[in-house]
Amino acid sequence: MITENYQQVVDEIQQAARAAGRDPASIRLVTVTKGHPVEAIREVVQAGARWLGENYVEEALPKQAGLAGFAGLEWHMIGHVQSRKAGPVIQSFSMLHSLDSLKLAQRLERFSAQAGRVLPVLLEFNVSGEASKHGWPGWDEAAWEALLPALRQIGGLPHLQVRGLMTMAPYSEDPEQSRPYFQRLRRLAGYLRDALPGLDFAELSMGMSGDYHVAIQEGATILRIGTAIMGVRACTIAPAPSVN
Ligand SMILES: *Cc1c(COP(=O)(O)O)cnc(C)c1O
Repeated sequence: MITENYQQVVDEIQQAARAAGRDPASIRLVTVTKGHPVEAIREVVQAGARWLGENYVEEALPKQAGLAGFAGLEWHMIGHVQSRKAGPVIQSFSMLHSLDSLKLAQRLERFSAQAGRVLPVLLEFNVSGEASKHGWPGWDEAAWEALLPALRQIGGLPHLQVRGLMTMAPYSEDPEQSRPYFQRLRRLAGYLRDALPGLDFAELSMGMSGDYHVAIQEGATILRIGTAIMGVRACTIAPAPSVN
């Protein structure tokens, strides 16, 4: 089923892009493989997936080792990262979607400099105000200005490259409920482009299995889709207790 699901989702993304008047090539897909074993990931890679998303470093590492034979895979860290995991993220991921604090940025900068690389990052925003969500507080548009000093500092770190924003809409059965949050993230990107010229906010990582059609209409450039491709997750490991 994974092969068929993958093809169907890719087709739907292309159709939704054209229907929205967008170039399908301007939208990339991260296939979210958390909670699925390496055999299932091998199947989706054989079907064509190249960008793979994981939420936990410990869960991702053995999968990366198991798929080391495939050229051209990119692993994207999409889950909350504790500062003490900054080193492994630098070693094992192509991009971080969930940069949510200055402290984490400074730790990543240190390891990234040591490794002699530059890590592309997205700033994760909580645009709904849900207490359970990680991310910079972005729900109150009047308070955006207060975030600029920290974001400016991150933009000045030489071994991190800010590329855009990421968000998760609150869970809902109705994809239309996600639309105002996606619109807010897009407005925020426009605000930050004006307020912090010289930084790059081109990427909008938004839209999951239940709401990616709406995300495409609202300007998503990266979709993070798990269940619609991989099926229901069986075995996501619990996050380790938070020791920042
Ligand atoms: C799990 C997860 C996804 C994928 O969710 P699905 O509903 O399975 O598509 C996307 N983004 C993040 C941050 C996730 O944790």
